[in-house]
Amino acid sequence: MKDSEKKFTTCYTVLECKSCSKSITRKFTDGDIVFQKIGDCDDCKGVLLIGKIFGETIGP
Ligand SMILES: [Zn+2]
Repeated sequence: MKDSEKKFTTCYTVLECKSCSKSITRKFTDGDIVFQKIGDCDDCKGVLLIGKIFGETIGP
């Protein structure tokens, strides 16, 4: 593994509702895939799916 890759210590998954544009950011869970349906939106019961997955750099 390269040094630059070691800095990605925390990954996040952004959930997006297709109906009301609500977005929720939570910790990445193993098996998360972009555009995967995750469940129903709490606000409008629309389709909630993964909009994007990103890593946050922590440390020096
Ligand atoms: Zn919604």
